[in-house]
Amino acid sequence: MENYTMLQFFEWYYPADGSLWKHFANEATRLKKLGIDSVWLPPAHKGMEGDQSTGYDAYDIYDLGEFDQKGSVRTKYGTREEFINCISAGKEAGLKVYVDIVLNHMGGADEKETVTVKQVIPDNRNEFMSEPFEIEAYTKFTFPGRAGRYSDFQWDYQCFSGVDYNATTKETAIYSIQNQYGEGWQDVLDLENGNYDYLMLSDIEFRNPHVREELKRWGEWFYETAGFNGFRLDAIKHMDPEFFNEWLDHLRGKYGQEFYTVGEYWSPYDLESILNYIEATGRRMSIFDAPLQANFFKASKEHSDFNLCNIFDNTLVNVLPELAVTLVENHDTQPLQSLEQTVDSWFRPIAYALILLREAGYPCIFYTDLYGSTYKDTGNDGKEHEITLEKIDKLEALLYARKHLAYGNQNDYFDDPNCIGWTREGNDEFEGSGVAVLISNADDQTKTMQLGTRHAGKTFVDYMGNVTEELVIDENGQAEFIVREKSVSVWGEKRN
Ligand code: CA
Repeated sequence: MENYTMLQFFEWYYPADGSLWKHFANEATRLKKLGIDSVWLPPAHKGMEGDQSTGYDAYDIYDLGEFDQKGSVRTKYGTREEFINCISAGKEAGLKVYVDIVLNHMGGADEKETVTVKQVIPDNRNEFMSEPFEIEAYTKFTFPGRAGRYSDFQWDYQCFSGVDYNATTKETAIYSIQNQYGEGWQDVLDLENGNYDYLMLSDIEFRNPHVREELKRWGEWFYETAGFNGFRLDAIKHMDPEFFNEWLDHLRGKYGQEFYTVGEYWSPYDLESILNYIEATGRRMSIFDAPLQANFFKASKEHSDFNLCNIFDNTLVNVLPELAVTLVENHDTQPLQSLEQTVDSWFRPIAYALILLREAGYPCIFYTDLYGSTYKDTGNDGKEHEITLEKIDKLEALLYARKHLAYGNQNDYFDDPNCIGWTREGNDEFEGSGVAVLISNADDQTKTMQLGTRHAGKTFVDYMGNVTEELVIDENGQAEFIVREKSVSVWGEKRN
């Protein structure tokens, strides 16, 4: 089977100029040629900041850039028509297109309501610090700009379990709403903060059966409107896993489609919690390997003090490779973002070799590594920063090696804290396949590795171009491979 690669086709600071959908449509054919097979697009619906919203602050999930709401018709990324066109262009180019689904919360309510709440302790959400009292809350969504088109469902406080703003006193805190569907928060698996149901804005109440039915109807409408191939699910750590079981089963059953799905359960230091979620969702979805991304971050900061033999310790790809989506960076971990945990640039080609050239995992490339980016924002230190992210020159070579070379048996040489390597022996299905990868986080290194006798006598070169010497594989199928300091070399057969 051919190796597949996903691309996250956006970053947090992509300009809010309405160009992203067109940009993707223009790039689709080139991306396929580079070795990309699937693309994760950002949320397509209108967010509470209109054309400035990334979409993770969902306002109206039926407004894909069609209605004059929140100060604009289009979204940050373009219009409804451009969105639908770009999915068609992606599919025509042979790409699978995954859409981003944000159903944990909504923001930008049209009207206030008087609701009864209890205030909770932020780091222990199961503890109430008040008796029930009334506040005015932004919980009524009527979508006047859409005026009932596609759905006349209106959201009120019965559809939400919590808010963070008391409009009566203008205070910000976490308030648990008393509605008819349940007392307190919904059970979610993650025990961080006592209960992590509440993340932000108006938290959706999935115990309300009308909400679940409406979201299934919306899923049908969205698929029939846009014709995508799969989903990326936002903030699932803050949602009852039962909801997505029901939602995915409904859509998969109704349309007889696989709808490949990857969920964002962001727990970089708690693999157990991720595995519990996978069990609770009965393997219906893959999960981003946040623990692996955290290991890459740590390795990039510790330089030669990091033991490379431990790079896959406590990662999802190590224990459940078939459900792991591996990544180096995303729109939340990039510099100045909420979960900032940026892998230093010297280590990024190494990290990409680790996710692209091994058997395990479904790798996802981050937008800036292919396109670069420059932006300004206030960091966690409260200061303004200007960031320039360079694209990785060698990423295209790594994508080529994944598509054409990284096949066959894998032999690991994780035997030196500062120098690890592996080989893929190649197979008959992919002519010229077979690759040897060597990584150093210290000085220049060499390692003798077995590539298989099928390669005896062949000349190998470093596809990364870091090592200029050529090597000849000996009669036993081995060679002493070379890597330069703090880099990765990717050895494949020399081609004319
Ligand atoms: Ca929630």
